[in-house]
Amino acid sequence: MFEVHPSLSRVPIVAVVRRFRFVVLACVLLCCGPAVPSMAQSDTNAVSPISVGDFDSNVIQPMPMPQAAPQAGGGQAASTPAAFDGGKAWQHLQAICNIGPRISTTPGMLQQQRYLEKHFTANGGEVLKQEFTAISPVNGTQVALQNLMVRYNTDRKRRLLLCCHYDTRPFPDRDKRNPRGAFIGANDGGSGVALLCEIGRHLSDMDGPWGVDLLFFDGEEFVIERNHPMFLGSTFFAQKYAAGQIPWKYEYAVLVDMVADKDLQIYFEKNSLAQGPDRLTRSIWGTAQRLGVKEFIPQAKHIIKDDHLPLNNIARIPTCDIIDFDYPNPKAGNVFWHTTQDSIQNCSQDSLHKVGAVVLAWIQEIQAMHAQPDREQ
Ligand SMILES: [Zn+2]
Repeated sequence: MFEVHPSLSRVPIVAVVRRFRFVVLACVLLCCGPAVPSMAQSDTNAVSPISVGDFDSNVIQPMPMPQAAPQAGGGQAASTPAAFDGGKAWQHLQAICNIGPRISTTPGMLQQQRYLEKHFTANGGEVLKQEFTAISPVNGTQVALQNLMVRYNTDRKRRLLLCCHYDTRPFPDRDKRNPRGAFIGANDGGSGVALLCEIGRHLSDMDGPWGVDLLFFDGEEFVIERNHPMFLGSTFFAQKYAAGQIPWKYEYAVLVDMVADKDLQIYFEKNSLAQGPDRLTRSIWGTAQRLGVKEFIPQAKHIIKDDHLPLNNIARIPTCDIIDFDYPNPKAGNVFWHTTQDSIQNCSQDSLHKVGAVVLAWIQEIQAMHAQPDREQ
């Protein structure tokens, strides 16, 4: 991702993708559980889906969501929801960083894919791979990349998407001393993956009407020169989604990126405040407020180009980007970003825990709210 001048906020449409398929790598539900619903045709029904053609929130009438007002003490949930385990998320981050760089198409990426497949299959997810091709910025040849999706409760038609990128930048090109060194991407690339690894542990047996999918984008920053196209995986997915070639619908999506820095401050990201994502964004920060996580600051700060733009602008899925774009901190600026300083030593288990706790609690609130239709609908 990168920060842009407000006048440059639209994402370029990348035309490097050629082919598409979802490959079921593992499906523990395949034999005994419900099949993936066949929604390719006809499904304009009970789900009250987002309007693909119209992005006006007055028209969409989106789902009710937890509001921003804090709720002091009262209103205890009927059952205590499972808590996000920051220690487990941190172990995932350590394992991912120990792989080394996870650059698209490289053995490191392959090793990470195997790690994720094993982890999510073991906790009841259905792991899918979406392949596409791109032109390698390294040598100009055509290469294969893969988005990885993990699905839970595939029989539920109302769906949320949680996503991050899982590739790391080929080089730490903003590093003044070693711009061709190894880039680990503990925060930029690693933190989102680690967070979703722990979230996934809670999804298969989560009560409620919503099914949640996780999506790991490849090729977010498979770039060497600044003019190379970014967001390859999210753009490919969004184009297929917009063309009706993804046989299920998402009402909202949440993107996490750079969420483990030691001095955590997460502001509203400005592209996440436009129309559809606006109430989504405020709703998540409302959950943070209720949990007392002060690091979610309900003020707009950066305007970021990231994987949420293809989802918002092409797929028309209202998508919020949760990102701390002051790494290591606002005073120093974003000086660790895309440098060799983006290491696990400059990340924090506590930060990862806080962001994960907010995201998981927000999902649980959505589930609880919609499980009681007389309250809101
Ligand atoms: Zn990056």
